[in-house]
Amino acid sequence: MPERFSADFSPPLADSGPESPAFEREVLDELIYLHAGVLMRMPWVQLLLATGVVLLVYRTVPAACWGAWAVLTVGAEYLRARHAGKILKQDTLDSPESAHRLLILLAAGVGATVGLGALLFMPHISLPNQALLVIILFAMPAAGVSVAVSSPQILAAYSLLILVPTALSWALRYPEQILTVAGLTTLYWWFIISVAGDGEQLLRRSVAIRRQRDRMLRDLERRNAEVRAAVAKAEQSSQTRARVLAAASHDLRQPLHALSVYSAVLVANPAADSLPEVARNIDKLVRNLGGLLHGLLDLSRLSADQYVPDLQRISLDRLAAEVCNEYEVQVRDKQLALIRNLQHVRLHDDAVAIGRILRNLLDNAIKYTDSGQVTVTTYSSGDRAVLTVEDTGKGIPEDEQGRIFEEFYQLDNPGRDQGRGVGLGLAIVQRLCELIGAEISLTSRAGVGSQFKLTFRSLAVAAACRPAIPVDDEACLRGKRIYIVDDEADILRAMSLLLSSWQVRVETAASSSHVNLLFEQAGKPDLLIVDLRLGDGEQGVGMASRLQQAHGDFPVLVVTGETSPDAVRLVAGEGYRLLQKPIIADELYATLCSALGV
Ligand code: ADP
Repeated sequence: MPERFSADFSPPLADSGPESPAFEREVLDELIYLHAGVLMRMPWVQLLLATGVVLLVYRTVPAACWGAWAVLTVGAEYLRARHAGKILKQDTLDSPESAHRLLILLAAGVGATVGLGALLFMPHISLPNQALLVIILFAMPAAGVSVAVSSPQILAAYSLLILVPTALSWALRYPEQILTVAGLTTLYWWFIISVAGDGEQLLRRSVAIRRQRDRMLRDLERRNAEVRAAVAKAEQSSQTRARVLAAASHDLRQPLHALSVYSAVLVANPAADSLPEVARNIDKLVRNLGGLLHGLLDLSRLSADQYVPDLQRISLDRLAAEVCNEYEVQVRDKQLALIRNLQHVRLHDDAVAIGRILRNLLDNAIKYTDSGQVTVTTYSSGDRAVLTVEDTGKGIPEDEQGRIFEEFYQLDNPGRDQGRGVGLGLAIVQRLCELIGAEISLTSRAGVGSQFKLTFRSLAVAAACRPAIPVDDEACLRGKRIYIVDDEADILRAMSLLLSSWQVRVETAASSSHVNLLFEQAGKPDLLIVDLRLGDGEQGVGMASRLQQAHGDFPVLVVTGETSPDAVRLVAGEGYRLLQKPIIADELYATLCSALGV
């Protein structure tokens, strides 16, 4: 049994809260229904008893007297049974307390009619018959213990009104025994009431056990539902993975096959005039492959929850304007108009994620629009910020609108020509939206155009806003001193070139001895970029924390090609930022700005 179930097997009364109103009500309900069930048989029992008593007294007692008594006792018991029948017909009791009170009164009434027999008959019957009558009347409260189920109150009312008149009528006839009779009657009464009290405890315990069992059943059902949902989710994700894998292997195999054909052409020493065409085609294939690989890596990274949104105060309109600028050439080439309808909106959100979402949507809008315009709009509505990308392109048929967010799902590309996209853009958009908590909706009509609408809940309070982080303002890194540690010379060279182009003062180191020397000679940097796995067996994270201990605190950015959660945990454990390879330049730029707080 798993440990987390253990709490449900605690002793029944321990957490059933005997004093809780719900528990008390359930005990009372149970008692009333059980008592009512027994009462249904009582008129017959009473009839037998009355007959027995009548046989004892009819010779010496006037017929009207014993007749009236018999009718009274059986009639009172019959009325009690009728009331019990009404209770049993109700599924729930409106007020169990008042039903219980009424049952106590009815028990008192029935007890009184029986006890009346002692007062009426004792003066008229012989001593043996008196003794027999007293025995019968004293036995009735003992039987009443089981009739009253476990209600000491019902039993007390019933028994007192039988025992007191019986003991009284004996004491009146034999005054010398008054103390003995009073003492024995009290002792007897106390005994039957305490037996009823024990019965009540038993009832409370069984109700508590039943509640415990019901709770465990509910808990088990809930857990079962959770397990079923988890299994369904796992099955769905394994189906998605299989579908993605099948599509990816097809899409990877095609260009690889074409590349092997072109390499065979090159090996065969082709005519010089065919070389430019071969080179162009190889270039196109390599670009397509790169795009596909990038998309797949992005998707796996987003799906593995390895993307931690980096929340900053950003200006949505400014971010949108910057992304639109990147598409000027593409728009001009297709002779489309790119309309910016940008109202000032400030957000507290992830600039990199929103930039990537917008790039994917804008890319599609331009790709699937042959004439007319593409409009990017930003505005705020209530406490929400809205970004829309609208085009006058070919539109998306209604029955396809749900499916285009699936991985590798494309319309009008049966040959899977990768020049027309790989079908991962919108899947990435959707994952990013889930990660940053944005809602995405689509309105589209085939032949008319499409509108993708993003709604963000992270509207920043205007007064609290700092100026938006200038995502592509190259001046923001100017003059910063950044050290890069990587054991691969090509990466060191490329990163150094890229950072230098942002006017960063870059120093590079390929090994731990080299980086130690660098820190000793030049001091600590404004930021350290370090590869997670370094060639000499040292880990980037360990090296960074060692250097921080020796030279004081500085921000650290870890880069890695690993996608395992362990790697993410290792880096997050030290509080360092993480970027996964292949690194996109603007993502690197935004991360550096954010890490340096500029
Ligand atoms: P890709 O564009 O690489 O094919 P996406 O996941 O970005 O993959 O899009 C999936 C499909 O959705 C596309 O193949 C295209 O048919 C359709 N689509 C996406 N955006 C638009 C749009 N703005 N207009 C018309 N069709 C679109």
